[in-house]
Amino acid sequence: MTEPRPSIHACHRNDLATHLAAWDESAWRIDQILDWVHAKRAGGWDEMTNLSRKLRQQLAETFEFQLPALVQRQGAIDSTQKFLWRLRDDALIESVLIPANPALYGEGADRTTLCLSTQVGCAYGCRFCASGLDGLKRNLGPEEIVGQVLAIERWHKAEPATQAVVVPAPESAPDKPARAASMRLIDNLVVMGMGEPLANYDNLLRALRILNAPWGGGIGARKITISTSGLAPQIRRLSKEPEQFRLAISLHGATDEVRDRIMPVNRRYPLAELAAACSEYLEQKGKMITFEYVLLAGVNDAPEHARPLAELARRLHAKINLIPYNTVEGLPWTRPADAACQAFTARVSAFGVPATLRLEKGHDIDAACGQLRLKVEAKISSPQPAAGNP
Ligand code: SAH
Ligand code: SF4
Repeated sequence: MTEPRPSIHACHRNDLATHLAAWDESAWRIDQILDWVHAKRAGGWDEMTNLSRKLRQQLAETFEFQLPALVQRQGAIDSTQKFLWRLRDDALIESVLIPANPALYGEGADRTTLCLSTQVGCAYGCRFCASGLDGLKRNLGPEEIVGQVLAIERWHKAEPATQAVVVPAPESAPDKPARAASMRLIDNLVVMGMGEPLANYDNLLRALRILNAPWGGGIGARKITISTSGLAPQIRRLSKEPEQFRLAISLHGATDEVRDRIMPVNRRYPLAELAAACSEYLEQKGKMITFEYVLLAGVNDAPEHARPLAELARRLHAKINLIPYNTVEGLPWTRPADAACQAFTARVSAFGVPATLRLEKGHDIDAACGQLRLKVEAKISSPQPAAGNP
């Protein structure tokens, strides 16, 4: 059997340089190719018209060039939109595009945020989450993580109705690597789609480094937030990486009693161990931790749940995002009434820690991770041709 070709979308600049040197091509071709792939978001080798036919042929024989295929898009152009993609093995994944919004995870005002998936399904089985309902199918490759960004950017480029919201990237921003001016849509990433990113650590890091690189996606590390349900050893490992990625912890309970009830991962890495790993991250990276806390009626929203949450956040200098639960068909959990969500937020804030109630976008489009995929999988029992690559 022949080895599968590596994907150009997972290719580091240095690896491409090695190939070009072996083919006796000038070094400046490297950036020309990467510009086509990442800045111009080419859809295939044939679009790279300033490369010789011979070089395009060599590239095509050496590298795979395949972006996720759009199956379905939900949501209005100017609000949260959800994209369902089909991968080469017909697996389905989701990405969510969130329009400009005062920063939820970073500092200052964001422009457009993309929520990325890292696995097909999830092995961690949090009781309230649609992504884990069918278990884990497989990890995404780095090219499939990078590919979500490129496929959305391509869709955006081709969609006339979206052109009005294009903003040229400010080249002078301190966190923005210098790069050829391009009209990019996405400048903020949250790794909060389907899957547990830290369970696919190597592919995640390879993808994020490409998305962060000046020759790649050019998205500043501080504009990239990785969300985890609490894999303590991988949090420790991440704290030793050179990049300043932001970390979000899906806490959802500030006692072992609550977390044990809704998140099986807590039995493996109980709160004390998770908090110690977060401390290490904090020590290495400074103030960069956010707690995600999904409000589930009758589970974690009682007055007595506020104090341990605030105390843990204070200890770890974390800010708290409170998110009313997005109901998932077939699961028994419900979101508290708005007034109850507001009361809980006020209670937590009263302890003097930053807590924001996230009036979440996309409730109407199955925006909670994994929901759209499950619905579409239930509808199509056999794979159908993709609705066309953007
Ligand atoms: N596996 C990682 C990242 C993906 S989940 C993690 O758990 O952090 C992204 C976030 O969505 C998590 O905080 C998760 O708990 C939350 N989430 C899952 N299902 C939800 C739902 N139905 N309503 C609201 N948030 C949900
Ligand atoms: Fe997996 Fe995160 Fe969903 Fe838990 S919340 S099942 S870790 S995707």
